[in-house]
This record gives sequence, C-alpha cells and structure tokens, in this order.
Amino acid sequence: MTSAKTGLRRATRMVRAGLHRSPNNETAEALYLNSGFVFNSAAEAEAAFKGENDVYMYARYGNPTVTTFEERLAALEGAQMCRATATGMAAIFASLACQLKSGDRVVAARELFGSCHHIVSKILPKWGVETVFVKGTDLAAWEAALSKPAKAVLLESPSNPMLDLVDVAAVAEMAHAAGATVIVDNVFATPLYQSPLALGADVVVYSATKHIDGHGRCLGGAVLGSTDWMNEHFIPFYRNTGPSMSPFNAWVMAKSLETLELRVDRMSATAATVADWLAEHDGIAQVRYPGRADHPQHALAKRQMTGFGSLVTLEVKGGKESAFKVLDSFGVIDLSNNLGDAKSLACHPATTTHSKLPVEERLDCGITDGVIRISVGLEHPDDLTEDLAQALAAAS
Ligand SMILES: *Cc1c(COP(=O)(O)O)cnc(C)c1O
Repeated sequence: MTSAKTGLRRATRMVRAGLHRSPNNETAEALYLNSGFVFNSAAEAEAAFKGENDVYMYARYGNPTVTTFEERLAALEGAQMCRATATGMAAIFASLACQLKSGDRVVAARELFGSCHHIVSKILPKWGVETVFVKGTDLAAWEAALSKPAKAVLLESPSNPMLDLVDVAAVAEMAHAAGATVIVDNVFATPLYQSPLALGADVVVYSATKHIDGHGRCLGGAVLGSTDWMNEHFIPFYRNTGPSMSPFNAWVMAKSLETLELRVDRMSATAATVADWLAEHDGIAQVRYPGRADHPQHALAKRQMTGFGSLVTLEVKGGKESAFKVLDSFGVIDLSNNLGDAKSLACHPATTTHSKLPVEERLDCGITDGVIRISVGLEHPDDLTEDLAQALAAAS
C-alpha cells in the first residue's frame, strides 16, 4: 500500500493514492492492458514462484493497473489490503467461499441483495454449510442466532430496497463472541459514508459497478480486510479460482474514484431533497430515507453513517397499478434495476429484484406492491421533482 500517500486527506488520496508512474512519466494512471509479465532471469522466476520477491507474474494474481485501483480504494476505506474482483457477486462469493467448509455455520441478515440471498440460501447449504437468516434490524434475533458458534456473518446496511439498517458494531461484537468473521456489503453507504472496519467488521465487500464506476460502464467488485485475513483466507482462493478484475475495468474504476466524493455528495444532497419533497406529496404512503427524522432507525443512521446515500424508497398509494403508472410516466428518470449511476434510475422491487422471494417474506421485509426504489443521479433536483410530480399526477 502507498504508505507515503496515506497521511494525506481523503480528497487528495482519491487522486494520488496508488499512482505509480512508468518511466514515461505520464500524468494520468497508465493502463497496463496485459495478462503476462516477463522475468529478467530464471532465478527471478524461481523466486517469484516461491513467493520470495514481489514482481508481477500473471494478471490473474495481479496487474499494475488493478493494483492502482486496489491501493486507491484501500486508502479510501482505511483497510490494510484490497483485492479487486470481476463483479460485486464475485467479491461476495469469494469472501464466503474462501473461509467456509462443510459443517460450518453462517448467519446472515435476511435483507440481502437477491444474488447474495441465493448464495446463502441455495449454494452454501448444498456444500454442507448450515445457514441461518435473521431480521437485520432485530438485535435479539442476532443474539439468538449467534448464541451458537458461527464461522461467518454477512449483512448489508442500509439494505436493498427498504433502506433498513443493521447495528454493525453491536452485531460485530456478538459475532466475534461466536467466533465469526463479519462481512459487510457496504454498497448502499459507499466507502464515503460508512466505515464497517472502524465499526468492528472484519471484511468489507463492494459492487464497484454501482457508485464507484458511477457511469454505468463496467462491472467490478472489491474485498477489503486486514493483511492477515487476506493472506490466510482470501488470496490463495483468489489466485487459484480466478475472480480477478480486468485491467481495463480497473483503470475506469481508479479514475472514477477521483470523482466519487463529488458525485456521491451531490447525489445524496439531491436524494435528501427528493425524499423531503416526496414526504409532502398526497399520493405517497411512505418515504424511506435514512437521513429523515421519520426513518425508523434515524438515530442509528446518525451514529454509524456520516451521510445517508443516493437511494430513496417510496411506497405509492394504490399498489402495483399505481406504481407501474408512475414508472411508465417518468420522462427523465429511467427504469433500471441498476443503481449508483449519474442518471436517476427507478425500479419496482416486488416484480423485479425481489420477485423470487416468497410473498410472505417479501411483505415481511416491507416490500409491498406499491414500493418504488429510486437511485438519485446527478440531474438538477428540480427536474427530478418535476418528473416525479407529473408521474404521480398521471397515476392518481
Ligand atoms: C449490485 C449489488 C451487488 C452485486 O454486484 P454486481 O457488481 O452486480 O455483481 C451486491 N450487493 C449489492 C448491495 C448490490 O447493490
């Protein structure tokens, strides 16, 4: 990691950390679009394969452009080590699979991104791993589930799409007492607004596809943790199973980190404006935004987050029919299940991202047929509230 750069302030680190200029002295980070590397001698190759020197060998293990992205993200997260992956799901799957064996037990919040839920509910049990879901907001449920030994805990906060929070510090304490490694999917908070490692978690995972790229171009993911944990568990799995990030995507992601703070701060300020505007509207049954005093866990949000993010979830009156009318009437906001983009995007979780959940479970999570999730982008706030106004009028 670029220790010379770590004393600098965050905004500076985001444009300076991980920069290793080639002898050509290019200003911007070079893109090393290569898979292989040559050795200067047979002895150097022998030493590399023994792990005795620190040279690039093969891009599945590491590539200079990927290293730039990893060092820059680690400097933002305050983590000792980062490895970039091809997608967010590759990061999450590898962070679990690298440490689990048959007979182990995993405790997870039930409010997980759909594919994470699939890994915990469908894939891990096939391999003899016992998995238990708990309601993420319910500390008594975590306590009961963690009264028996566990190997890993997986949670997401704020969660998709209802923006429920998990008390990361409280759960980490119980998880550690049960012997578990705590993995936090920090996508919705972004590295700017929540630092799970400082709250007691062991591993942070990202889909870099979302706010980190932020322009809807590339898939990517990242796993961050201590050097000890990464070297013992993650690195051998990563090197031998191959979820590595492409150098091109790493170059896009590293450059995107330079503007992450500017983009996400603006998007979150607009999201707060949109949430307040929606709360005043007659056609709305409920608005969810962790920054609003009426969010059920606003006190916890203020305690464990330094900002409240770019996602706003609303429930329209009139169920699926109204929700579909609103979605089909948008003129500026696009319909997409993606998020964290410069363009505002909206989706209907009940029939898309969460359609595979059993109905009772979906409703128990609060995902009714009237729920719409909006990922607020970089458009002018007035254009978004005007678009919402005309769409809600068309639906009423
Ligand atoms: C998108 C997302 C993922 C999966 O990331 P991919 O890059 O699509 O593989 C995981 N968790 C959360 C919270 C997400 O939003």
